[in-house]
Amino acid sequence: MAQDTIFALATARGKAGVSIIRMSGPKSWDAVRALAGSLPKPRIASVRVLKSSDDVTLDEALVLLFEAGHSFTGEQSAELQLHGSPAIARAVLSELSDIPDCRIADPGEFTRRALENDRMDIAQVEGLADLIDAETEAQRRQALRVFSGDIGALVETWRTQLIRAAALTEATIDFADEEIPDGLFVEVAELAQTVLKSLRDQKKGHAFAERVRDGFEVVILGAPNVGKSTLLNRLAGREAAITSDIAGTTRDVVEVRMELEGLPVTLLDTAGLRETSDVVEALGIARARDRADTADLRIVLVSGSEMPVGYVSRETDIVVVSKADTGNAGGLSISSKTGLGIDQLIALIGERLLALGDGGSVLIRERHRLAVDHALDALNAAETWLARDYIEAEIIAQHLYTAIRALDSLVGRVDVEDILDEIFSSFCLGK
Ligand code: GDP
Repeated sequence: MAQDTIFALATARGKAGVSIIRMSGPKSWDAVRALAGSLPKPRIASVRVLKSSDDVTLDEALVLLFEAGHSFTGEQSAELQLHGSPAIARAVLSELSDIPDCRIADPGEFTRRALENDRMDIAQVEGLADLIDAETEAQRRQALRVFSGDIGALVETWRTQLIRAAALTEATIDFADEEIPDGLFVEVAELAQTVLKSLRDQKKGHAFAERVRDGFEVVILGAPNVGKSTLLNRLAGREAAITSDIAGTTRDVVEVRMELEGLPVTLLDTAGLRETSDVVEALGIARARDRADTADLRIVLVSGSEMPVGYVSRETDIVVVSKADTGNAGGLSISSKTGLGIDQLIALIGERLLALGDGGSVLIRERHRLAVDHALDALNAAETWLARDYIEAEIIAQHLYTAIRALDSLVGRVDVEDILDEIFSSFCLGK
């Protein structure tokens, strides 16, 4: 089916050094020719004067052409690198929209075409979306791994092993027990085991990968007036929470998003944990306790050796002595006033968060975890059936297929043709 040719401003709106208009589809080179008069060689940037249909000069631009099969979308494409003025971009976009069969692209349409033309799989599309959204170093690295196709590569390994297991199993269906080679189901079980282990490893790291994407919650706990809000401001580098020496100022949870040691962190300042008869303050304290329960990491701020009321310690808690400038001392002492100990605290927060990593994972979304869970269920079932005395090959094969389909859904590929191919080509019981 002939596609429309789409175009859009690929750079952010507004003034800039350069603005780029991108085009994709069968008419993109024709559109460039209409504006630039002549075409440069593909993939060699060349300067052209762009003119409107009534011969008014619009801009001098760097023009780049890509042949079908050599572009981001897989289609014939072009880029116009313009001087970064909103007026130029507007004029060129308006000219393009007058060219027949050319239209402004829908959001994400270039990537959708890349997906449709098999230039990337669905997980890579997700990686690309995350890469564009990445604000911290850890997010950039993680998204780049997914965009580069790490999920696809893993799926490929898993499916090769499972297809072999399914093919071996399937091939026994029409055979009498005594005809089945010794050790065949041992190999099937080993293949399933290998994939199970790899899936479990990936799942272990999922929670961490998801946090890298969405942010870690770090909560600051402590008695009123111990200096929580001041610490939050010091860490955030700006006045994010109200500080005062009237106990109970922070009645709710104050959140600040920041980057600590390359990781995205939402830092939470909580209402001072203390006994109170003030209803509003009590609500704040209840919320603080809830958030403290689910936080990834807790910083417990103390002024001496006394712990906050109702505090139940956790192994990963970082206990910090506040207001070191006033003579308070203890393990890790800090002063949010002078900055003493703050760098050590930041390093420790980064270290503790990274320690949650557990080997890392490319399963960065809930969708990925669900697909892997589905595959794990199927493989666990296959294992149970494999452990029985009487082997039900058809049931085992079904579970293996279910696992393969679940894993294929990670990259958006679901077909059984490959399984059939494997059965008929590489496997033969000699009949
Ligand atoms: P919160 O109730 O725990 O959030 O405490 P605040 O951050 O509002 O601080 C209570 C009081 O302690 C304020 O007057 C702060 O200026 C003061 N304070 C906080 N941190 C320090 C510090 O490191 N050194 C000194 N000298 N005073 C501090």
